[in-house]
Amino acid sequence: MTVPAPGTDATIALGANLGDPLSTLRGAAAALSRLGTVSAWSRLYRTAPVGGPPGQPDYLNAAVLLRTTLPARDLLRGLHSLEAQAGRQRRERWEARVLDLDLITYGTLVHTTADLTVPHPRAWDRAFVLAPLNDLNPHLPHPRTGETVAAALARADRRGLQVHADTWFPAQ
Ligand code: ADP
Ligand code: MG
Repeated sequence: MTVPAPGTDATIALGANLGDPLSTLRGAAAALSRLGTVSAWSRLYRTAPVGGPPGQPDYLNAAVLLRTTLPARDLLRGLHSLEAQAGRQRRERWEARVLDLDLITYGTLVHTTADLTVPHPRAWDRAFVLAPLNDLNPHLPHPRTGETVAAALARADRRGLQVHADTWFPAQ
């Protein structure tokens, strides 16, 4: 008999477009094990920047499935400290960044406050989030609207999105 690990399944989106994005994402994926158990990794995508100041380099994006016993607020705090450890400076919104870690879903939680919004408010509109999520679980429903990741990806603007590597995390 398999006993499921305690906790909540969260999906985390990773993005980087400054420094050495691949090694930053690998380091972040390894460090996420401090916050729970990573059980699945998406493919790695190369994407054109969406919004923010002009002239940014392309992003590398991925997503992971994390089983965690941390409450959502503590998980987000943990993600922010991993961003800080990677050298992220927060100045301007949507500027180029060494590492962006977003909490996309936390179980079926729907929660909107100033400092924590779950599901991530823009996730179901962004191909660079949806394509990696689709690798993890195309049937994952949006906790509020019920729209699956696959359905959202089918209607999303996928221009500027390409698979960069099938595997990128050594432990995969
Ligand atoms: P974005 O990820 O949209 O490009 P930022 O990384 O700069 O933008 O995050 C903007 C703010 O959103 C941060 O202050 C962060 O604390 C807050 N935030 C609220 N909910 C979430 C969430 N689910 N995941 C990540 N950040 C969140
Ligand atoms: Mg973010």
